Amino acid sequence: MNEKITPTVMKFGGTSVKDAAAFLRVAKIVASQKDDLPIIVTSAMAKFTDALLNAFEVAKNGESGEGFTSLKEHFDRHQAVADELLDKTRKKAFLAELDLAKEELSGLLLRVERRSLPLQMLRDAIVSYGEQLSSRLLTEVCKANGLNARQVDSRRVIVTDDEYGSAKPIWDETENFIKLELNNLLESGEVPIMGGFIASNRSGETTTLGRGGSDYSAALVGAALRAREVQIWTDVTGVLTCDPRICSDARTIDVLSYNEAAELAYFGAKVLHPKTIQPAVDHSIPVRVCNSHSPNEKGTMVLAKSDVSPNKIKSIAHKTGISILRISSARMLGSYGFMSALFQVFERFRTVIDVISTSEVSVALTLDNTESLDKIVTELERLGDVEVKHGFAVVCIVGEGLRASPGLASKIFSTIEDINISLISHGASSVNLTFVVEEEKVKDVISKLHTTFFK
Ligand code: ADP
Ligand code: ASP
Ligand code: MG
Repeated sequence: MNEKITPTVMKFGGTSVKDAAAFLRVAKIVASQKDDLPIIVTSAMAKFTDALLNAFEVAKNGESGEGFTSLKEHFDRHQAVADELLDKTRKKAFLAELDLAKEELSGLLLRVERRSLPLQMLRDAIVSYGEQLSSRLLTEVCKANGLNARQVDSRRVIVTDDEYGSAKPIWDETENFIKLELNNLLESGEVPIMGGFIASNRSGETTTLGRGGSDYSAALVGAALRAREVQIWTDVTGVLTCDPRICSDARTIDVLSYNEAAELAYFGAKVLHPKTIQPAVDHSIPVRVCNSHSPNEKGTMVLAKSDVSPNKIKSIAHKTGISILRISSARMLGSYGFMSALFQVFERFRTVIDVISTSEVSVALTLDNTESLDKIVTELERLGDVEVKHGFAVVCIVGEGLRASPGLASKIFSTIEDINISLISHGASSVNLTFVVEEEKVKDVISKLHTTFFK
């Protein structure tokens, strides 16, 4: 095997494959980098993953037929791309695949209704059709545009544990399979096209890596093959100074450190999946966030290190739908073991804590997943008085050097002095300052901070 093969991994998000024009743009972007040994990772067509999850829920409530019918408009969207971009033979091949997918989906939804297999397993099997179909369609579109493209089933190369819905890759096996499967294709001049997000466990059952997980798939492939670069293609130019849907004057950040990018992604800058960063960091692979509508712009580079920006702040992320949980107990005073007992409850219910703050006799923390909240509260009540409040948002201000910047916190909080802050966390990481406000105030908070720091 030629050890010198250094590919470029190009991941296209759902917004970059939402319709025929978008598919064509992708084929052209790939063609423009065909000498850099591209490997393509694609998401499902925009909105299809949500639709598949919704069909699953409908089937679970006993209406599998209705669930299936709700998918029709999305099957039609795939067909419309094929109609517009493929010749007769390619179209026929894709439509045969689409028909098969419909048949299988209808069967799987019926199984959901009848509970004939574990629901978690069925949900992943169903939702995987988004990426199965988009990768097949993109392969045909790329071929029709002169590329020597070949679809690779990601479920054969990414091996995970059995945690359906947010499965964790088993690295050694995944790395081996990726190398085995992809190096040969690259050597023979082919362009591999894989669905992101989907994988399989050791028994070969389909699993998924969690919402937004296609970025993660791309990073795994990039890390396994020591890629030159992992490119995340989306519908905005890179990582911006804040969510562009809140501030239309948000600007592109040229360079972010891995740490900054990880904090931003985790706290709601949807443009990058939080886990993307890890495999890239481990192997020092640069990640670039690019705009498929404007491929010549440089976008944002995510590198091991970045410079401290003049005003210290790089970006402001936020996440809504947050609940605050407060536990107060005199038992905490001067005793040890309390925190450990507290964390064990969250561990048992596999619930992630985002932000935490403690005093002598109480702990406040935030959660965005409230699936097991009732059970968690029941258990926590053994430790102390528990209070739960919903309807909050986490705001996360990110920038290398934040912790070592006198006066910055005061500038931040004086900008929003009229707003009640429910919880603050600062100093745990050197790159972020995080606080929690009421959800209905979050847009106002972000606009004010953005004006203060970026205008
Ligand atoms: P994709 O389909 O490419 O995965 P996503 O919808 O997951 O796209 O992520 C891109 C979207 O993330 C953008 O359209 C933008 O509205 C949103 N977004 C939120 N915060 C940021 C940010 N700080 N920088 C860039 N985009 C952001
Ligand atoms: N299609 C999946 C989702 O919508 C994965 C992804 O797009 O990254 O979550
Ligand atoms: Mg995404």
